[in-house]
Amino acid sequence: MNKHYSGRSSFHLPLVASELSGIPDEDEPPSLIPNRTDEISSFRAGYFPGVTEKMWNDWRWQLSNSITSAEQLERFVSLTSDERAAISNNGKGGGCGLPLRITPYYAGLIAGSGPDYPLRRAVLPLTDELLVSPGEGDDPLSEESHTPVPGLVHRYPDRVLFLATEFCSVYCRYCTRSRLVGKSRHRLSTSHWEEAFRYIGDHPEIRDVLISGGDPLTMPNEKLDYLLSRIRSIAHVEIIRIGSKVPAVLPQRITAKLTRMLAKYQPLFLSLHFTHPDELTPESAAACRRLADAGFPLGSQTVLLKGINDNVETMTRLFHELLKVRVKPYYLYQCDPISGSSHFRTSVQKGLELIRGIRGFTSGYAVPHYVVDAPGGGGKIPLLPEYYQGEDDNYVYLKNYEGNSYRYPKEGNVQ
Ligand SMILES: *Cc1c(COP(=O)(O)O)cnc(C)c1O
Repeated sequence: MNKHYSGRSSFHLPLVASELSGIPDEDEPPSLIPNRTDEISSFRAGYFPGVTEKMWNDWRWQLSNSITSAEQLERFVSLTSDERAAISNNGKGGGCGLPLRITPYYAGLIAGSGPDYPLRRAVLPLTDELLVSPGEGDDPLSEESHTPVPGLVHRYPDRVLFLATEFCSVYCRYCTRSRLVGKSRHRLSTSHWEEAFRYIGDHPEIRDVLISGGDPLTMPNEKLDYLLSRIRSIAHVEIIRIGSKVPAVLPQRITAKLTRMLAKYQPLFLSLHFTHPDELTPESAAACRRLADAGFPLGSQTVLLKGINDNVETMTRLFHELLKVRVKPYYLYQCDPISGSSHFRTSVQKGLELIRGIRGFTSGYAVPHYVVDAPGGGGKIPLLPEYYQGEDDNYVYLKNYEGNSYRYPKEGNVQ
């Protein structure tokens, strides 16, 4: 609550992008409400003098003006000495050497915040990242061992993970692919794609291709269009999914032109990554609504993070805000044990306690599957609080969300 957007839920949100700005131009980003526009213009004028609204709303401008150094960051927040030390260590080992990168838009959300502000903790490094604890590793899910061809992870029988790019517009400090992302200078290297297309084509059991990375939506439309067209042309691929944090960190990217291009490849699902309810700004909400209006089923994936979202109130608020913009909370992940992640990780008991505090108390649609992605490559393992209490010859014994006991008569019950 140490942030200035606490009254956010009272914003009036436009129903469609054209409500405020007339008929949008082809490449128009999701539009903003007037109040928020004022807030952004004063932030922009203060920190990016000379930058016009048109430039600010251009996702390419956002990408090429992203914050990557302590000096740039100091303009928005006063860094703690620990943060400064962590940034100067960046890329020099410890943790996975994940670079620092924040879009000007997202910097606007953390500007002036205190050191404990959840969104700041999600994207600014601490020297805790240099501390590697037992059980941690750079590839805890053993993705490399399920990689038949570069950039493709084939772990489950009928679907693959396609790592299309190593680039993200913002690097989350708890990233499960810290070992891969942000490492290459070749942001758009696609040399491995052809081999991946061939592998998918040769494996008729693959009916679901999940495009992730890195963040696929940071690629230009033409590249993404090519990628999707190649995957769509494989007859046995039934559904395509894109995993992205762009609507949360670079909502300007969700232009009408992008959604029109994506719409050629239905059925196409989007798995978005949201961490905290403060990410659901009017811009981000408008981006989600635009995707929903274009007909894409939207899910969200959230990582359980200590001090960031590990309480029932924050988590419930996040899930409610997501449902309001038609995003279904899909997975809640136990934080993967990547190197240098112990300051982010909570106990599994904490995750179960959160699900216990949410399930039944609110809409079932708001409740994601809580999973631990098994270290070593076992895949996602779902966990539930103990609603099932056992059984005897006649009854199955159950507990409901309030902790009350019930019994369900079994087939052949004789009592
Ligand atoms: C998470 C994941 C998937 C998709 O899993 P779903 O449960 O179908 O969403 C596919 N492949 C890999 C390697 C994954 O980690």
